[in-house]
Amino acid sequence: MAVERTLVILKPSAIQRGLVGEVISRFEKKGLVLIGMKMVWLTDKILSEHYMHLQKKLFFQRLKNSMKICPVVICCWEGVDAVKVVRTIVGVTNSRDALPGTIRGDYSMSMQENVVHASDSVEVANVELKRFFDEKELYVYNPVLLSTLYASD
Ligand code: UDP
Repeated sequence: MAVERTLVILKPSAIQRGLVGEVISRFEKKGLVLIGMKMVWLTDKILSEHYMHLQKKLFFQRLKNSMKICPVVICCWEGVDAVKVVRTIVGVTNSRDALPGTIRGDYSMSMQENVVHASDSVEVANVELKRFFDEKELYVYNPVLLSTLYASD
């Protein structure tokens, strides 16, 4: 079993609309383990790195501006296949195509204001976690429910 860590950002659309508790609750209830969390006001510099793969897109600056309208909440979730599990919970990029039951499918009508960011591969997760967290901000502890969560695996 591959225990992975993945990065989730609760975007300004989550903060402004009061969805922080709801979004975090979905990951918790699934059985992912929260090992790091903080509130941060992102800068253009870090957003240019984070969204480097979109730098040629016409919406690049608009997207970065939307991520700076207020602070965001950044989390690190841990679990078996955590990267894939979190992406499934989040849903596809365009919220109007996202399935009901996913975060984007349930809480957004927008492509840009789609409530959460989640790393899309293990390699990307490792880079993004280093970008947003110091190692000492990620906690190693023994979640008491672990043996129940993965009992039959
Ligand atoms: N985005 C946008 N217009 C687009 C595509 C993406 O505004 O046509 C925004 C959207 O907020 C998305 C973010 O850019 O979440 C990053 O895009 P990416 O393709 O990496 O999608 P994600 O991994 O967030 O689903």
